[in-house]
Amino acid sequence: MPEKTTSPSLRDLPKVDALLLTTDFEALAQRYGRTPVAQETRAALDSLRQRLRANNGVNTTEISPHGLALRVRESLEKLFAPRQCRVINATGVILHTSLGRAPLAPAAVEQAVREASGYSLLELDRESGKRSDRDKLVNDLICRVTGAQAATVVNNNAAATMIILNSLAEGREVICSRAHMVEIGGSYRMPDVMRKAGCKLVEIGCTNKTHPRDYEDAVTPQTALLLKVHTSNYAVVGFTEEVSLPDLMAIGKKREVPVFYDLGSGSLVDLAKYGISREPSVPELLKHELDVLCISGDKLLGGPQAGIIIGKPEIVQRVKKNALFRMVRCDKFTLSLLEATLKLYLDEDSALKRVPTLAAITRDAGEVKLSAERICASLKKAGLDVSTASATSQVGGGSTPGEFLPTTVIVWRGPFKSVDDIARRLRLGTPCVFARIEDNALLFDPRSLLPGQDDELAAAILAVKA
Ligand SMILES: *Cc1c(COP(=O)(O)O)cnc(C)c1O
Repeated sequence: MPEKTTSPSLRDLPKVDALLLTTDFEALAQRYGRTPVAQETRAALDSLRQRLRANNGVNTTEISPHGLALRVRESLEKLFAPRQCRVINATGVILHTSLGRAPLAPAAVEQAVREASGYSLLELDRESGKRSDRDKLVNDLICRVTGAQAATVVNNNAAATMIILNSLAEGREVICSRAHMVEIGGSYRMPDVMRKAGCKLVEIGCTNKTHPRDYEDAVTPQTALLLKVHTSNYAVVGFTEEVSLPDLMAIGKKREVPVFYDLGSGSLVDLAKYGISREPSVPELLKHELDVLCISGDKLLGGPQAGIIIGKPEIVQRVKKNALFRMVRCDKFTLSLLEATLKLYLDEDSALKRVPTLAAITRDAGEVKLSAERICASLKKAGLDVSTASATSQVGGGSTPGEFLPTTVIVWRGPFKSVDDIARRLRLGTPCVFARIEDNALLFDPRSLLPGQDDELAAAILAVKA
């Protein structure tokens, strides 16, 4: 029987059409649809053909209909696998930009899914039957929870900054302190944003100190705006001085130039009693009758990605009349999510409980400690050598730089061959787990866990222990 040991030749490759009629492939087509099955089958046959031409040790099982079906199924499984898997954030960074910033309130998601899966009243007034403005869905809520006079919403805070600058200062000068030349990451750098918005940046002061007279001296008939930018991801400390918002407002008023504050994160509630003392709340800032400010929807607010523009009615109107507005407006899904999130803010206690970001920030340190101890005990019971330790969590997401929240972490020192390898296996598990690595140990911080994830975290850790 010497023929049996010879390797297959090109002639032995099955034909696509014949393969697709076999029961194995029929079953795949039922599950994944005919088009992707045919495409993956052709690709599998192409690669076998190449290997056969190169005499690359193809065996008979690989080219059998069953062997091919297994291979095609594998590539279809990869193609259809969820790209976004469930993530357990045990890093202690509550607004983790790479992990999607603010987790949404379940109530908000339910409402948005319900509304977005059918037709909606996005731009129609029921009473008159006429076209209306999609902003009406959230404007009054934004004004009510912040004390603003007028508001509008765009896709993100970067778009908000861009359109405000372009609407109020295109072709004119914008005065900004050198301490506020922020780079947020990616390609978002204030001087570049300014150029793209068509504004001429007038830099004043020094990195560490800017005085009122620096602004005063820079104002010319060409000045359109005084800009203040929240230093979201850094803090200037030491021999420093900056012009307070009321002082800046006074200069703006005297010289008849509006003041724009790119606040970035922006909390709607006062977080001072929860240990975040350097982050003024939006309602507090608006007491100064600021001309215009913008904040992100998915940072401290804890809602969907959006850029919320708040200000004097005539300024908000100018932004909405800008031709760029259409390019940065929000869709119905975002607006539903935002509407439902803002409603949670109608009562502060309800927001603190039900907006996940706020619940995590304001969670009592004693409660976080209990949670850490419970997880630690269940890991110990399963034979893991772990302990708890005091540590700090961060709000993250470009807010409250240099401010930390007290927490208790679970510390796992191994023994492992490589802490990076264990961290990688935690990331590749289901659900996928992100932890902190410090001094060759893994640290798990319960402060950034969502309700009900304690047991899931413990199970995920035990799954990689083996
Ligand atoms: C985060 C941030 C932005 C960008 O906001 P996105 O919502 O990510 O577009 C702009 N300015 C400041 C000061 C920020 O903190």
